[in-house]
Amino acid sequence: MNEKLAAKNIEMSIRATELAVANKEKIELLAQLLQSQKMESLGIMAGGIAHDMNNILGAILSLATAHLTIQAKDAPVYPALETMRDAAIRGRQMVKRLLNFARQGPSETSSLDLNAVLLEEVRLLEYHTLATVHLDLDLAPDLHPIVGDASALTHVFMNLCVNAMDAMEEGGTLTLRSRNLGDDSVEIMVGDTGCGMSKEVLERAMVPFFTTKEVGKGTGLGLSIVYTTVRSHHGQLSFQSEPGKGTRVTLLFPVLPDGQVEASESVEPPVEAALATLTVLLVDDDDLLRTSVGMLLELLGHRVSAAASGEEGLAQITAGLQPDLVILDMNMPGLGGKGTLPRLRSLCPEVPVLLATGRADEKALSLIAAHPHVALLSKPFSIEELQAGLQLAIAAAPLP
Ligand code: ADP
Ligand code: MG
Repeated sequence: MNEKLAAKNIEMSIRATELAVANKEKIELLAQLLQSQKMESLGIMAGGIAHDMNNILGAILSLATAHLTIQAKDAPVYPALETMRDAAIRGRQMVKRLLNFARQGPSETSSLDLNAVLLEEVRLLEYHTLATVHLDLDLAPDLHPIVGDASALTHVFMNLCVNAMDAMEEGGTLTLRSRNLGDDSVEIMVGDTGCGMSKEVLERAMVPFFTTKEVGKGTGLGLSIVYTTVRSHHGQLSFQSEPGKGTRVTLLFPVLPDGQVEASESVEPPVEAALATLTVLLVDDDDLLRTSVGMLLELLGHRVSAAASGEEGLAQITAGLQPDLVILDMNMPGLGGKGTLPRLRSLCPEVPVLLATGRADEKALSLIAAHPHVALLSKPFSIEELQAGLQLAIAAAPLP
């Protein structure tokens, strides 16, 4: 009898253990789901901000660059304009990172030597805090190149180093190590001898907005950015940490296959003088864009007539305006690009149109396919792209 009871007890406790394990798995799955939902809403928010910022930075960048080409190098405003241009380019890189984080934009990739990225990081660190911390730099001399976005990866190592430094307020050793793992991966390790993490902290460290730091010091976004960037590079990330002993973060990246080297980003060339003077009808509901692109077109020697909506642009043509080219924003309230284009076509069947849009989606592409002399101008467009669009239009249109 007792034996039977004992057997029953054992069976029950096995069942209970199984249930507990199943529950734990369920909870872990839920936590993962919650994490990915958080990342997603954060991504949507970041993406929205990034698109607006692109327009703003595009306005600053195009105006500064255009004015640099018409100012003498010794003009008093020259250095200020250069600073504006450089600041806008930096801002644009940050927006790119934000878009990359939101996984809404392609990242700027090229063949990369991670040692160079790490050395750049060291240079930045030395500037700041390396006085209190010993640096142990162990870089493999023959490190294989990877494919990646240099500025996004710089940001990754920056976040990891800042965390390591924060963990070593009393001093310690920061280790940066790179090595080849066989022929197809590169491993980077960022280690510190700081405070380390408890199991609970380690479990939540990558959750967006999770921080153990005081207000103003931590945002809790560092490691979630590290995580998304490493993932978008098809890499892997792992942590080893023990309270009081320190932390090691190990990153694995796939190696660039032989002979596959892509070009890296180049600086925009200066504006060239346009071939002819065009009358451009510029239709965009964004004031800032209208002003900046308008001024840019004028600097290039064109006449600009600006309209804040499709309706207004059409009214200008009905009132007698004869544009050589129309730059038409796709997304506007009212008629929008889609409603304006056919009406514009019936008023001036031949005029070339550059359809400006931030999203080259099916809607835009089918509009272009349906109308002759319409080309896509993706926003934010660089000066070169605007020039190229104008040049195409000039080539296509029989000018007086
Ligand atoms: P933040 O640094 O803004 O707090 P992170 O996402 O970079 O946000 O990190 C989240 C948390 O993970 C930190 O607040 C800290 O508690 C912990 N953490 C990250 N890296 C380390 C490290 N190297 N040593 C100790 N704790 C760390
Ligand atoms: Mg951090």
